[in-house]
Amino acid sequence: MSRIVLPINYHYFNNMRTPKIPILRPSLPPIEEYMKLVEGIWERKQLTNNGTLAKELGAKLKKFLGVKHCILVSSGTLALQLSIKALDLQGEIITSPFSFVATSSAIVWEGLDPVYVDIDPQTFNIDPSLIESTITSKTKAILVPHIYGHPCNVEKIQKIAKKYNLKVIFDAAHAFGVKYQGKSLVNFGDISTLSFHATKIFFTGEGGAIVTSNDKLAARVSKMRDFGIQDCEVVTEIGINAKMSELHAALGLCVLPNVKSNIKKRKIIAAKYDKELKTTSLKKPQIPPKTNQNYLYYPVLFPSQKTLEKTLKNLNDENIFPRRYFFPTLNKLPYLKKKQHCPVAEDIASKVLCLPFSNEINDPTIKKISEIIKWEIS
Ligand SMILES: *Cc1c(COP(=O)(O)O)cnc(C)c1O
Repeated sequence: MSRIVLPINYHYFNNMRTPKIPILRPSLPPIEEYMKLVEGIWERKQLTNNGTLAKELGAKLKKFLGVKHCILVSSGTLALQLSIKALDLQGEIITSPFSFVATSSAIVWEGLDPVYVDIDPQTFNIDPSLIESTITSKTKAILVPHIYGHPCNVEKIQKIAKKYNLKVIFDAAHAFGVKYQGKSLVNFGDISTLSFHATKIFFTGEGGAIVTSNDKLAARVSKMRDFGIQDCEVVTEIGINAKMSELHAALGLCVLPNVKSNIKKRKIIAAKYDKELKTTSLKKPQIPPKTNQNYLYYPVLFPSQKTLEKTLKNLNDENIFPRRYFFPTLNKLPYLKKKQHCPVAEDIASKVLCLPFSNEINDPTIKKISEIIKWEIS
């Protein structure tokens, strides 16, 4: 691909005219819809403690996701920590080095040791064939993300867990609205956790949820998110404050009705990127068959770290800000007791870039980003 010749003052005018293009941008509902719900909060004067809107959102999410229990919490990170706590895990947890830092920090924060199993170079999810050899008498669970909302090999993971009597927690922070084999991806594992952070497909600003079909576990998690209080005066076990406020729930109630149409818009944008970039040597992670994606991210794998870094700089110069999701790998975290080696994840992480991807991004921007990428690689 020959380099595009830009007019001499192109950068100057371009920076004046184009606003900053970030990696993601939340698709906010009309503010009037939010204010209407806020008025109700003012009338009831209940701001939190599983109020009217939190209950309504919990019920609606349960239906939307087709799950038995969906317990709202204040973040995806606390959803992970509560899951580890509620399952009484101690010792080692097998996890993936290729994720957002919260997947690992939740394990360490709860006093357990993460054991990293390398990823599959095609899917970027944990490679199930490497799990068994890392299992020891201390291993208690497998906690892995569905990276970019692409399903892990849930069948193999659950089979191994069953054989060795391990719990399975899926960090489904990326996987809201994803269907696998006709059902919601969050139906797999002992627990699936969700994040409703502003950057996710469904968001409440800050927030999250714990999904499970186990009645006892659901009751325990509900109590634990509320200081471990059973009734007003009885505390039965240690808890924390991880409740979702009414203001957050109100935002969620306005965002939820638009999720399906947003996913459709994102699918169209992904197809546009696909078309612009199809002549390049960029690779994309493989997605298992029978998956209905949510198109949260648009990850591409560069031929080398060098081409990625050059392209990133060129894009930044044009006020365009993709992100290196996820770099560096989590096995390199400075607070780990021992360093572990994950060559595949380290290689992929050094070459992967998530392109700006919101449902507001327009055709000229997609074209411009694609052209800039083509300067460096062909
Ligand atoms: C966003 C995210 C989290 C953390 O969720 P918060 O709601 O921000 O606490 C955890 N895991 C993954 C994979 C994420 O992307």
